[in-house]
Amino acid sequence: MWPRLIRLKRGVLLWRRFGLLQLTDILVNEILHGADGTDIKCGVIGEIGCSWPMTESEQKVLQATAEAQTQLGCPVIIHPGRNSDSPFHIIRILQEAGADISKTVMSHLDRTILERDKLLEFAKLGSYLEYDLFGMELLNYAFCPVVDMPCDIERINWVRFLTDEGYGDNLLMAHDIHTKNRLTKYGGHGFSHILTNIVPKMKQRGIPQSAIDKILVENPKRWLTFK
Ligand SMILES: [Zn+2]
Repeated sequence: MWPRLIRLKRGVLLWRRFGLLQLTDILVNEILHGADGTDIKCGVIGEIGCSWPMTESEQKVLQATAEAQTQLGCPVIIHPGRNSDSPFHIIRILQEAGADISKTVMSHLDRTILERDKLLEFAKLGSYLEYDLFGMELLNYAFCPVVDMPCDIERINWVRFLTDEGYGDNLLMAHDIHTKNRLTKYGGHGFSHILTNIVPKMKQRGIPQSAIDKILVENPKRWLTFK
């Protein structure tokens, strides 16, 4: 029985390896030569979507992302599953596949890790920490009702907490505008919300201009620069 089982297992592994190489080639090609048959080149890999529990195909895409990132030194951004263990699991897969975690953004932390100790534990892993749901003031988070979705002032408090804990070089902020009602044309805050409304509130809450400049200018610039 053993030899047959081993052969079968090798066959599966070979098939998986082939799929991984194909995925990696697609990602590398879209950065070096252009996406979707055009000559428009991608500047980042992402947002790589993950669910919880993670599926086998998602894990393979993460491994291909790590391989492409290793070859090109490009920035990567990840959409974690809706569970506080998901960002840890994702970073572990990327690390094992050889990715540079310092070039990786973990997005949507505002709805994912809501405990201080766990957030600090995650921050130690070295990725960028993104609070990117500014402007989303929801009583019910339809995708995950057990999460108490924070409001903007709570997001500011999380940013301040991480700044005070020494993670100012890892922070990023964004709006994640993905529906019409978020645009000013349809009554939303629009793309100027952070600059117009959030930054003044951050200053009121004692976050210094130097820390704000890191989040809005220096950190994005460093992340987006190919190594
Ligand atoms: Zn996302």
